[in-house]
Amino acid sequence: MVTHPIESLPKQVALTRHILFDFDGPICRLFAGYSAADIAQAQVKWLEVHGRDGLLTEQERFSPDPHGVLGTFAKRYPGSDLVIGLEEHLTQQELLAAKYAYPTPFVDVLIQTWVAVGARMAIVTNNSPRAVADYLGGRGLLSCFTPHIYGRVAQELHHLKPHPETLNRALRAMGAAPASSLMIGDSESDYIAARAVGVRFLGYARNPRKRQELLDAKVRPENILDSLEPLLTAVRAQR
Ligand SMILES: [Mg+2]
Repeated sequence: MVTHPIESLPKQVALTRHILFDFDGPICRLFAGYSAADIAQAQVKWLEVHGRDGLLTEQERFSPDPHGVLGTFAKRYPGSDLVIGLEEHLTQQELLAAKYAYPTPFVDVLIQTWVAVGARMAIVTNNSPRAVADYLGGRGLLSCFTPHIYGRVAQELHHLKPHPETLNRALRAMGAAPASSLMIGDSESDYIAARAVGVRFLGYARNPRKRQELLDAKVRPENILDSLEPLLTAVRAQR
């Protein structure tokens, strides 16, 4: 049975002045039209063209996770031209994906409504901040977040979530107290990062697989939403 945490949402909303949004998941399905597997294939091609595909293990060559390959290479060859080039290639792919991304239902109006009643928002993501800004600009939402978009930095790939660096940067820049802040994310790494900085967490699960991932990460069922609609209702109710 699916638990709807509707009763607890007004309390969460009442406590919240600052919202830290993960991007891919809560805001949109970044790879809805241009899949992560397509990007992984393009990544293998890029490595071939640069004569570096021999560095991939068999498993990595057929991995559908381009972020995983980038992370592994960043550990093996930190700060190298190869890693910088690979990150830029991934950024280009994400910029392409952002054009075909599928908006998460209710999120555009949730963002606009919450900002209209005084909340301040940041994006904390492992994706390229350029792709995020492109997407938000295309939806007319960029001004709701500017300048608080904290994403992947090629020279600092060790700071990707679950590392709390992007969350810390957002809290500092907004002058936000963790107690009045809420992270909305869709993965275990979001939850780990939120806990590390003492920020409350709401999980967004667009399907049973994502819900299970969050449950396995020990997110409480009452803090997992299958839809952002009840959250929008709670924000509207507090006006
Ligand atoms: Mg996500």
